[in-house]
Amino acid sequence: MTTLLDGKDIASRIMEKLRENFSSIEEEYGVRASLRLILVGGDDAAAIYAKAKLKRAKRLNVDAKLLKFPEETSMKELISEITSLSSDRDVNGIMIENPLPKGLDFYSLADTIPYYKDVDGTSSRNQGLIVNRREFMTPATAAAVVAIMEHYNLSGKVTIINRSPVVGRPLINMLLNRNNTVSVCHSKTPDLLEYTRIADVVVVAIGKPLFFGKSYFTERSSVIDVGINYVEDSIKGDADFTELNGYVEAITPVPGGVGPVTASLIFENLYKGTLFQLKGNSKKL
Ligand code: NAP
Repeated sequence: MTTLLDGKDIASRIMEKLRENFSSIEEEYGVRASLRLILVGGDDAAAIYAKAKLKRAKRLNVDAKLLKFPEETSMKELISEITSLSSDRDVNGIMIENPLPKGLDFYSLADTIPYYKDVDGTSSRNQGLIVNRREFMTPATAAAVVAIMEHYNLSGKVTIINRSPVVGRPLINMLLNRNNTVSVCHSKTPDLLEYTRIADVVVVAIGKPLFFGKSYFTERSSVIDVGINYVEDSIKGDADFTELNGYVEAITPVPGGVGPVTASLIFENLYKGTLFQLKGNSKKL
């Protein structure tokens, strides 16, 4: 029987703990943690992710605001806005919603956010801290994969199919930091099956609906599906859940797998960063 790796359950445990953590910050410091989301242009997916964060913020009593900018906003204007939020002591976390309109460079903008307000964990400093085995605010999607693996005691040989800076690259080092043996594949890898079939855990994140069927796995495989693909009115993963359920050892559903864990870990980063700022630690790392 295939084990369902239930991201909703993990996310609700994280949210419960975070509710306590944010309320203890309020009690101890008289501060309500605050988050500013930067949304540029009219991308539907970016707006949906932002709205979902506002909803979670409400449940955690976090002061979250969505700052909307028109499609034609320049890098210079955005950097000026981020600089002012960065120096505002009443703002604890900043997040730029992806995807951005063409011509705007997400990673250059992320690097203008102080690392202790970088709730997405994508700035060069937070990424570098992972490599140096001093993880602080880690990219939430990679952290969600790790959280699912830890919750279900999954480890060993892990194959990641993705080398992007938000998923594959931080995940390689986070998994190495936890003594896994990691292989990484991408669109130029010949014979993906050679890498997926030898792994205990396969993380798929290529953004192609239902791409991975039975032939990529064995009955011992655990599949963590990061893919989010909008197909007509529904959301599909990169793995063919219907074909794999009942065949592989374990699998995350989509929706209800990596997504909700990722969304709640953004707030775990906010909690860490807020505490760090309140303790006056911002020069220590
Ligand atoms: P991305 O930057 O486009 O990266 C996609 C990766 O997949 C690249 O490394 C690419 O290889 C590789 N790839 C594409 N086609 C392939 C193929 N046929 N065979 C092998 N590798 C292939 O995308 P991303 O931002 O990392 O996101 C990936 C997916 O995760 C998307 O579906 C996205 O919506 C989803 N996502 C989900 C969450 C969540 O919380 N669940 C969060 C973020 C992203 P190259 O490097 O060679 O191009």
